[in-house]
Amino acid sequence: MIKRYCRHCGSSTILAYVDGREREQCSRCSVVFYRNPTPVTLTVVKHEEQLLLVRRALSPLKDYWAPPGGYVECGESLTEAAIREVREETGLDVEIDGLIDVFSQADVDVIIIAFRAHSVEGHPVAADDASELSLFKQGELPLEPAPKNGTSTDKWFYKVIREATATWR
Ligand SMILES: [Zn+2]
Repeated sequence: MIKRYCRHCGSSTILAYVDGREREQCSRCSVVFYRNPTPVTLTVVKHEEQLLLVRRALSPLKDYWAPPGGYVECGESLTEAAIREVREETGLDVEIDGLIDVFSQADVDVIIIAFRAHSVEGHPVAADDASELSLFKQGELPLEPAPKNGTSTDKWFYKVIREATATWR
């Protein structure tokens, strides 16, 4: 384990059994540092009756087609984060139509909140962590093989994308 330090008193932290589970704890002031999954949005955007997908420039699932999305930051709601991420990656302004589902898996440290949305303004242009974007008609989504050598995050994210875009397949 990488040596880490308590953010309250600066002493080194240790792995200790706290409430029946191994957790990071300060060796001096006993504060427990819980690890919590980080919320991530994924937004299935309809633009001119087609589905907007971006080709991912980064891991997980680098080079795969996926709905735009990213980490939720403090100071914004989930839907504000979803709208911001779509704007950053595609230049489109969208309105959220509803929640598709919430996805989590024990060995992955994010929670994905998938929304449905439609574009209200703008012309889509790939930017930020999208290398390319495209519009797909219902039933004409690209066939991509499941990641064979990917991490469990890659494999899980592949399944999440398939489920979140199921109505377009
Ligand atoms: Zn401490």
